[in-house]
Amino acid sequence: MEKKQFKAEAKRLLDIVVNSIYTNREIFLRELISNASDAIDKVYYKTLTDDSLVFKKEDYYIKIVPDKKNRTLKIIDTGIGMTKEELDENLGTIAKSGSLQFKKENELKDGYDIIGQFGVGFYSAFLVADKVTVITKAFGSDKAYKWESNGVEEYSIDECQKDDFGTEIILNIKENTEDENFDEYLDEYNLRHIIKKYSDFIRYPIKMDISKR
Ligand code: ADP
Ligand code: MG
Repeated sequence: MEKKQFKAEAKRLLDIVVNSIYTNREIFLRELISNASDAIDKVYYKTLTDDSLVFKKEDYYIKIVPDKKNRTLKIIDTGIGMTKEELDENLGTIAKSGSLQFKKENELKDGYDIIGQFGVGFYSAFLVADKVTVITKAFGSDKAYKWESNGVEEYSIDECQKDDFGTEIILNIKENTEDENFDEYLDEYNLRHIIKKYSDFIRYPIKMDISKR
């Protein structure tokens, strides 16, 4: 008897999964905001278990920055960040949920509620973006890294500069097509609406500057 492992065409599998879980493109923002919130929760959790650390509430927030001119949407958090190894593990392995692992490894206290579990939420970014850049610095580390991918065939990781720990996700929003309007993911008013609809329960402030017109 011969036993063999299934082979998978990773990119096609990911397309199928992402497109069937997420029929609605706009939920990419919910996924990225929930990841940001999970990342802040992880810092919060550290401060609960380490007496030498304090959690100053005002230092923790999620910031959304649309830029119509450059067609980018940034999702910035002041959460735990990722080391180079974590970037590779968490964003380079499809269906690997760092959050699920975290939940298993830590006996979670009340009031602490990591949202992620499927390990595909991050990839929903590719529903609206043709390139995703992740700039991150892990809590307690002095090195920052940049992860970049324009789909799922491949990704790169390079060292970069970032002052504070946390993560910045930069989405290059797709160009409009005949039947799809991607501009709406760069529109403040519409983004506000999406945030209100799906992320109202997030415990950390979600900030967005109002631009003067
Ligand atoms: P899930 O949230 O179900 O674990 P995701 O695909 O949404 O799966 O994210 C994969 C993993 O990548 C997360 O578990 C986390 O470890 C890491 N990650 C994603 N976004 C961030 C972020 N903003 N800050 C820190 N880690 C993150
Ligand atoms: Mg997630």
